[in-house]
Amino acid sequence: MKPRTAVFDGWFSLDEREPHLLGTRCCKCGTYYFPKLNSFCRNPDCDSDRFEETPLSRTGKLWSYTNASYQPPEPFVSPDPFVPFAIAAVELERERMVVLGQVTSGTGVDALKVGMTMELALETLFEDDKGEKLVWKWRPVTGAAA
Ligand SMILES: [Zn+2]
Repeated sequence: MKPRTAVFDGWFSLDEREPHLLGTRCCKCGTYYFPKLNSFCRNPDCDSDRFEETPLSRTGKLWSYTNASYQPPEPFVSPDPFVPFAIAAVELERERMVVLGQVTSGTGVDALKVGMTMELALETLFEDDKGEKLVWKWRPVTGAAA
């Protein structure tokens, strides 16, 4: 087994059964941020510069989606050669914050419906001599899922 590490260090936990995105939360007003914000709170009514790291909800509602048939810009890292995939915008269950991510391999836009429940998954994005690089993706939760 090659070591499996995150494409973006510290953006998500590497628990493959129940991965979490890692964000920060303002210590004063409680606003959540992903990717992590550690400078100044963006809430105009808040002047805090203190944040705590927190795991974010693993599930949320599909808010919007699109088909990526072109090479996406940073921070997405694409396999080479590029394979078209779906991108989902998911509103996190607790934080009510929309987080973009690729949809798990093999799931196209025709399997997606706005409002459906999505959960976070980890997939290998690419593999090199040092090991596998993992990225977070969104996967539709079906009634039959264990
Ligand atoms: Zn704040």
